[in-house]
Amino acid sequence: MSHPCLRCGACCATFRVSFHWSEAQPHNPDGPAAELVMPLRRHELAMRGTEGSHPRCVGLRGSIGVDGHCGIYPNRPSVCREVEPSWEFGRHSAQCDKGRIRHGLKPLTPEDWAMQPVSLPGVDQVAVETAPLPEVDDLPPAYGFGAPSPEPGSPLA
Ligand code: SF4
Ligand code: SF4
Repeated sequence: MSHPCLRCGACCATFRVSFHWSEAQPHNPDGPAAELVMPLRRHELAMRGTEGSHPRCVGLRGSIGVDGHCGIYPNRPSVCREVEPSWEFGRHSAQCDKGRIRHGLKPLTPEDWAMQPVSLPGVDQVAVETAPLPEVDDLPPAYGFGAPSPEPGSPLA
């Protein structure tokens, strides 16, 4: 059984994905390629495809809920790295649940992670422990993966 994020991709087609300009190439060679991002606001970029009312990140590959997955996984921006799949680390994720529900998928449950092997690219197969971890702060308010993409006609700001 593959990691749920390798057969989902729902959050990549639900939210506007914005981040500081310094995260992208050429400023950051490990960040998303310049042609995959667009200016959003002063100091901010967004992943192309995530700014409209029917967002789908340009980096998303496959079909949502079937084989949807990030096609630029090693270069994804920080906000993408901070989105936790629900219950992978012993707690639910509002962003994960919202994305999956928007695309007609059931939210993940703790049972989805029982001895779930991790098969993300570049990661050895290991068993995931489901013990709770300490709470972490929310994403910074200025950038994030948390704002749903605006409805048609709404300003981005
Ligand atoms: S974080 Fe949740 S919504 Fe996003 S790809 Fe993974 S399982 Fe799907
Ligand atoms: S960069 Fe990858 S993880 Fe981030 S929204 Fe796009 S497809 Fe999803």
